[in-house]
Amino acid sequence: MIASRETRVLVDAGLSCRELLKRMALANEDSSALDAILITHEHTDHVAGLSVLARRLHIPVYFSEPTHRAWVRQMTPRTTMTYAKWLERVQKEKEARAALDAVETAESADPELCEQSGPIQIAAASGEAEAEEEDAPEAAIRRDPASLPSVEYFQPGSSFSIGDLTIMPFTTPHDAADPCGFVFESASESIRMAIATDLGYMPPNVKRALERIDVLLLESNHDLEMLKDGPYPWAVKQRVLSRVGHLSNHATAEFLSRDYDGSATYIVLGHLSETNNAPELALLSAEEAIRERGRLLGNRVLLAQQAAPIAPIHL
Ligand SMILES: [Zn+2]
Ligand SMILES: [Zn+2]
Repeated sequence: MIASRETRVLVDAGLSCRELLKRMALANEDSSALDAILITHEHTDHVAGLSVLARRLHIPVYFSEPTHRAWVRQMTPRTTMTYAKWLERVQKEKEARAALDAVETAESADPELCEQSGPIQIAAASGEAEAEEEDAPEAAIRRDPASLPSVEYFQPGSSFSIGDLTIMPFTTPHDAADPCGFVFESASESIRMAIATDLGYMPPNVKRALERIDVLLLESNHDLEMLKDGPYPWAVKQRVLSRVGHLSNHATAEFLSRDYDGSATYIVLGHLSETNNAPELALLSAEEAIRERGRLLGNRVLLAQQAAPIAPIHL
């Protein structure tokens, strides 16, 4: 969550709506004051709670057009199926609805409910409808799981504004439709913040985008040895390691020691793999890279982990 004096935006919504609201409260942030959600790319770990959260808070979602299209496709999979398969699906839906009705009559619905976790889509839809019943056309949402209060498009490489925040999206090398990172600038406070995760390597345009940044959230996804020796199937290991995969601790350290201009007061390491990384390794690797360059010692390195929000950084 990025907040300036007048504007608050959330970048990505990869956790459930319920978890996101909980974490905003833990960070003493008022979710109802959120102005918009910005999406970097359509991978599930960035959008899992998106539709429910946006509808719940009635706020616009900013995508690039290809990312929005990919997300809509993802939310409304069109499959061709045989008649037998179709019958089977209708039967399953009927059973799921019956099971849901039984649950609903057994207990009154929780008004705080964002969504039900688990695979039964109908249950999730019911949770949403509960929270939105005053003004959302429930039936339309059930028909269209990709419906959002409003959608705004941006183009990587062209800046746009939300309130007093100027936002420059930049293209990242990653295996999604149109992935990007963001630089945020608050004109009134002349503070710049950048988010760069989900990149297979550090191309020149990203290095340029990360100049003169005061708070830098940077990917440090995996330890190369842990990934190679780890449980992922070979094809997935190849994907992570590829030029459209993720930055290793090593690649992040290389950037910090060779190309980084050292202007950040805070460097936050993020998007750490729970399977193929250890927080201490990521931190050690980045700190060593900074120590190699004496003049970067003014940078404080922090770790963002999956289980809990980090303490808010105020500048
Ligand atoms: Zn991704
Ligand atoms: Zn990701």
